[in-house]
Amino acid sequence: MEHKIWDVIIVGGGPGGYTAALYCGRAALSVLVLEEIAPGGQMGTTDQIDNYPGFPEGINGFELAMQMQRSAERFGAVTRLERVTSLSLEGPVKTVKTSSGEYQGKAVVLATGASPRELGLAHERELRGHGVSYCATCDGMFYRGKEVVVVGGGNTAAADALYLSKLCEKVTIIHRRDTLRASKSYLKPLQECKNVTILWDTLPEAILGENAVTGLRVKNKNTGETQDIPCSGIFVAIGNVPNTALFADSVTLDENGYVEADETTRTNIPGVFAVGDVRRKPLRQVVTAVADGAMASHFIESAN
Ligand SMILES: Cc1cc2nc3c(=O)[nH]c(=O)nc-3n(C[C@H](O)[C@H](O)[C@H](O)COP(=O)(O)OP(=O)(O)OC[C@H]3O[C@@H](n4cnc5c(N)ncnc54)[C@H](O)[C@@H]3O)c2cc1C
Repeated sequence: MEHKIWDVIIVGGGPGGYTAALYCGRAALSVLVLEEIAPGGQMGTTDQIDNYPGFPEGINGFELAMQMQRSAERFGAVTRLERVTSLSLEGPVKTVKTSSGEYQGKAVVLATGASPRELGLAHERELRGHGVSYCATCDGMFYRGKEVVVVGGGNTAAADALYLSKLCEKVTIIHRRDTLRASKSYLKPLQECKNVTILWDTLPEAILGENAVTGLRVKNKNTGETQDIPCSGIFVAIGNVPNTALFADSVTLDENGYVEADETTRTNIPGVFAVGDVRRKPLRQVVTAVADGAMASHFIESAN
């Protein structure tokens, strides 16, 4: 076990985590970032980020991730690629266990993000980024003039379909029920969109295409009939799964499993903060994650 007590331990090296690391490092706090896979989180998985200010041509998500990591390390933040396996968060000194060690810190920032809920179909993971997308506002522009399918019936699916209808030739919504769960405010605009069709009581059956999506096979759950919808893009909008299993027994979560923390990012446990997509919030984007990281640092710094 390492005997150093870090000022701040950050769990998750996405944009939220690395911004907290940058601000805390710049405030002369000792900072350890523990990241399971690779810096960047979800952001690192997308080719082009167009809606993060400062990059007029957009920027590759992985490249932006590397820059965020370097920015934080410039102020002394240390990154270790280790999976956090358990947390002991009560008291003034917190213990963080990982796949290869144990660390202690005075403050912990939970920046574990969220993962889009998958359809669970064959080839879905291989075709992610090659036609399968979980973020219409991020990837929609790559499908300009093309035919796409949106899977889901909630607010995200409705908003995605409206957004895509302005870019795409045709948008087909696949919904497993006979009415949308989305707020009524979406219904009229959707009905007015000439290029949006809704297939009710319909379930996705198979993603078509070898190296890139060429269509989606769907099945009507009442009649059992199947049909293939030709499309270049499948936008999955059936919800997100926050990565909170690690601390669900100690940190208060909302009804959807996100950390209950307001914009101060403070959780129910003193010295424990939640930033980015893992926190309850209305918009999950890079720019809102980095804002949270700065906010957490503000409250950590004032406690030191
Ligand atoms: C395909 C795609 C495209 C997107 N495009 C855009 C876009 O163009 N513009 C935009 O603003 N937003 C975009 N987003 C959304 C944006 O990426 C997220 O809002 C943002 O990354 C959230 O940052 P975060 O730091 O909260 O969490 P994440 O990015 O989810 O990072 C969390 C990190 O925590 C790590 N982690 C989780 N559990 C553990 C553990 N136990 N131990 C150690 N590490 C752990 C994960 O490996 C991950 O690296 C996109 C998302 C996706 C999926």
